[in-house]
Amino acid sequence: MPVIAVDGPAGSGKSSVCRAVARRCGLRYLDTGAMYRAMTWALLTDGVDVDDPHAVAQAAARVVMSSGTDPDAPTIHVGSVDVSGPIRGPEVTAAVSAVSAVPAVRDLLVAMQRAEVESARAVGAGIVVEGRDITTVVLPDADLKVYVTADPAVRAQRRARQDAEQGSGHADVRATETALLERDAKDSSREASPLTQSADALLLDTTTLTLDETVDTLVGMVDSLGAR
Ligand code: C5P
Repeated sequence: MPVIAVDGPAGSGKSSVCRAVARRCGLRYLDTGAMYRAMTWALLTDGVDVDDPHAVAQAAARVVMSSGTDPDAPTIHVGSVDVSGPIRGPEVTAAVSAVSAVPAVRDLLVAMQRAEVESARAVGAGIVVEGRDITTVVLPDADLKVYVTADPAVRAQRRARQDAEQGSGHADVRATETALLERDAKDSSREASPLTQSADALLLDTTTLTLDETVDTLVGMVDSLGAR
């Protein structure tokens, strides 16, 4: 069963798409953004100054986190606390890029991500892993590598709609676009594992595609591997 690596900027739709593809193809699903968010939630909850990389690195080592990889019900816990709701809130979203820029945080989470892939492989299961550095750093030897993107205005519209539906953040599209582009700029310009499209990743631009069309396209890519 294949290992699929997907990267892309905020609001590109990759989480919804990857989850649906994993479901359709009978693969596991790992949302690495949720892991960086959970780490950020844990640090904020402990009162750590997220703009102090040294403090972040020290505190991060003490955080115990676990993520479930069932695409029908992905879970994320810090200790025994289910943080799947709080990690989508505006406080975490505003702080996550600072936390994820700290190399010690990335080392910890990348090791956990690779361990998830290994435990899938060990039982002959495939997995879809999505994030910002999956195709470039975490799984450069994945069976399929895809970079999912869309025009910023379209990404902002989707994200604002999602935020409104979940009752988190605000539905103001222009404010959402500004925040989203700021986060992209930070994620793309950091020194440690910046977001970038690797030369051997297939480009999937979802600007004019519906969710179903995007899922169909990615399932087609998975099918063309002939690995399932
Ligand atoms: O995908 P999502 O928007 O939930 O990711 C939240 C943040 O986590 C990103 O803005 C980025 O700072 C960080 N991230 C990362 N590397 C990944 C996944 C997410 O740095 N592989």
